Amino acid sequence: MKKRCYITTPIYYPSGNAHLGHTYCTTMCDIFARYKRNMGVETYFLTGTDEHGLKIQKNAEKAGITPQEYVDKIANDFQNLWKTLKITNDDFIRTTQERHIKVVQEVFSEFLKNDDIYLGSYEGWYCVPCESFWTETQVGENHVCPDCGRPVNKASEETYFFRCNKYLDVVLDDFKKDKFVYPISRKNEMMNNFIKPGLNDLCVSRTSFTWGINIKENPKHVIYVWLDALLNYISALGYKSSDDSLFQKFWNNDDVEIIHVVGADISRFHTIYWPMFLKALNLRQPDRIFVHGLLMTKDGKMSKSKGNVISPMPLIERYGLDAVRYYMVREIIFGQDGQFTADQFIERINADLVNNYGNLVNRVLSMINKYFKGIIPNYKKRVNEKDIKLDSLIDETIKEYITLMDDLKLTEAVSKVMDLLSSANKYIEESTPWALAKDESKKEELEIVMNNLARSIFVSTMLLKPVLIDSNEKVFNFLGINNVKFSDVYDKEFLNNNKLNPTEILYQRLDLNTELEYIKEHIKSV
Ligand SMILES: [Zn+2]
Repeated sequence: MKKRCYITTPIYYPSGNAHLGHTYCTTMCDIFARYKRNMGVETYFLTGTDEHGLKIQKNAEKAGITPQEYVDKIANDFQNLWKTLKITNDDFIRTTQERHIKVVQEVFSEFLKNDDIYLGSYEGWYCVPCESFWTETQVGENHVCPDCGRPVNKASEETYFFRCNKYLDVVLDDFKKDKFVYPISRKNEMMNNFIKPGLNDLCVSRTSFTWGINIKENPKHVIYVWLDALLNYISALGYKSSDDSLFQKFWNNDDVEIIHVVGADISRFHTIYWPMFLKALNLRQPDRIFVHGLLMTKDGKMSKSKGNVISPMPLIERYGLDAVRYYMVREIIFGQDGQFTADQFIERINADLVNNYGNLVNRVLSMINKYFKGIIPNYKKRVNEKDIKLDSLIDETIKEYITLMDDLKLTEAVSKVMDLLSSANKYIEESTPWALAKDESKKEELEIVMNNLARSIFVSTMLLKPVLIDSNEKVFNFLGINNVKFSDVYDKEFLNNNKLNPTEILYQRLDLNTELEYIKEHIKSV
C-alpha cells in the first residue's frame, strides 16, 4: 500500500442541480477516501465543477444572467450539498477560479511553444451538448453523436489541434497496465472504438462561443473545455504556482496512488487525452481510472430534460445519511449500472441494517448486560469447532475486506462484512447462550461465545466505518471504547474486560407501505 492517496471525482458540469447521480459518485469516492484515512494513508480528496462551455453560456442567456452568475449559484449549491452529506473532500476546484485559469493558459502556451499544439482548421460533424467534433465514420449513416446519441451538425472552424499521434505510445503503455482502466469492459471499448480506428489530432480551441479561457496568443479563441477541465486535477494541487507543495506531495511523487473516478461518458477523455497531456508536460501518469456505472431510475439515466432527476434530500431527511450511503454502496455494484427503486431501498435497509447489523448489536449487548453485568468477557482460546470457525471468519473478513477495498471493489467489500454479521447471527442460534447461562459448568463456554460475538460487532463496525458515518461512533460507544484505530481489529484482547455503556435501538424497522408512500410523494420518478 502506498503512503499517500489522491482521489478525484469528475468535476461536475453545473448545467442543472446536483442529483442522486452526482451524490452517488461523490459518496463512493468519500467512502474510499475515508477508508484510506482509516488505514493511516495520507489522503487528498478532490471534487469540483467544470464551469465553461457553450451549454453554460446558453443556459445563462436563457435565464437572463451572466454565465458567471449562473455557475456561481450552482457551484454554491453543490458545495452546500456536500457539506450536508458530510463529504470529506479536501478541496473544491472551480474552473472559473483564477488559480485554475492561470495554469490552463500557461499549459497552452507551453504546448504551443513545444509544437504539441498547432493552428489549423476543422470541418466535421459537431455535437453541441458534448462540444465534440466527430468523423463521418463515427457519426454513421444516421448522423448521431457516438457519445450521447443526439443528432450532429456539419460545422467548420479555425482551430488549434493537439498532436495526438506524437503521444500515442503513452496511451498504449498505460493500457498494458493491469488496472489502469477499470472495469476491463471499458478498456476494451476505448481500444476498439477510439484507439484502433486511429486517433485524429484533438481540437483544443473554439471560436464559436466565448464562455471559456482565452488563448493569450490568439484571444478570439477559447480553450476547448476538455483541455481546460482535465487540468483541474493538477491546478487544484498548485501546479505551476508559487506554492506547489501539495502538487509535489500528491502528484509529483511515486509514493502516491492517484485515482480518478469518472463516468462512462467521460472515460474517453480521461483514458486517452489526459495521459497525453500529462506526458507532454513531462508528468507522471495516474495509477487508475475507475469508470463507475450509472444510478438510473426506471426511465433510464437521470437528466433534466427527461424530468427523472432524483434529489437525495428527501431520502436523507427521512432515513439519515447512513441508510442512503449504505444503500448506494451495497445495492449498486461499483463499476456497474444500477437502478434506484423505492422498494429495493426499503428492503435493503430493513434486511441489512435493521435485521442483520442492528439486531445483532441489540441482542449481543443485552446478553452481555444480562449474563456478565455489562462487562465483556476476556478473550480465551477457542476450543469448539463453531467458536474457532467464527473466530477465523473475523480474521479472514478483515483480510478480504482490505484487498477488495484497495481494489475499489467497494460493494464486494461491504458484502463481506454483511456475511460476517449474518454468520454471527447464526452463531447465536447454534450456541444457544440462554441455555449455557443456566448451567454453571458452561460458564467458560458462554464467555467464549460472548467475546466472539462482541468481537464480530467491533470488527464489523470498524470495517463499516467509512460507510456508516453516523452510527459507528454510537456502536463504539455502546462497546465502551473510544479513540479506536483500525489496527485494534488485530488485537484479540482489545475488548477484554470492557464495560458497556447504555445502548439504544440502532436502526428503526421501516414499514414498506408507509415508506413507499413517502418516497412516491417526494420523488416523482420512482
Ligand atoms: Zn453528443
